[in-house]
Amino acid sequence: MPFGHDMQYSLATVVELVNTSPSTGGEDRLASLGELQSFVEAREVSGLGGLTARDLGQVRMIREAFYRVFTSPDQPTAVRLLNGLLSETRITPRLTEHDGHPLHVHYFAPDATLAEHLAADCGVALAHLLVEGEWERLRTCAAPDCDHVFVDESRNRSRVYCDSRTCGNRMHVAAYRARRRA
Ligand SMILES: [Zn+2]
Ligand SMILES: [Zn+2]
Repeated sequence: MPFGHDMQYSLATVVELVNTSPSTGGEDRLASLGELQSFVEAREVSGLGGLTARDLGQVRMIREAFYRVFTSPDQPTAVRLLNGLLSETRITPRLTEHDGHPLHVHYFAPDATLAEHLAADCGVALAHLLVEGEWERLRTCAAPDCDHVFVDESRNRSRVYCDSRTCGNRMHVAAYRARRRA
């Protein structure tokens, strides 16, 4: 996929974020401040102060906004929803180097809250994906009991499961068993 490292990283972050939502099947995995802290550390979200219950509420709201973008029935809907999300977010692009990462662009405002940070960087990454005509790469897992979202980065846009190590394998095993029974 013709996207830079930063953009891929932001796309991976928004996928991780959305997949903590009970909307994608399973339990809410952002139900507490501790879980929010773990998410932030796992995704190496930089430049944050202490997190509060308010951050948790705001992040959960932005998570559902991103979920709706991923599950839009068509591209015009995705564009409209993403524009709505971006219009409510302060975005100030600036070049930065930190924590050993090469020069890259941050889109979130210097005093951004965590939710603003995620909305800005992940929102811009999704905007670029749409601009590149790649809306169809925003997918929902084809496994019957899984609604996780993912970005299909395969060359021929052929990926159908959220994670080939889990859902993909699981489905292959199920298909194999079904064939054996037949
Ligand atoms: Zn950075
Ligand atoms: Zn899945």
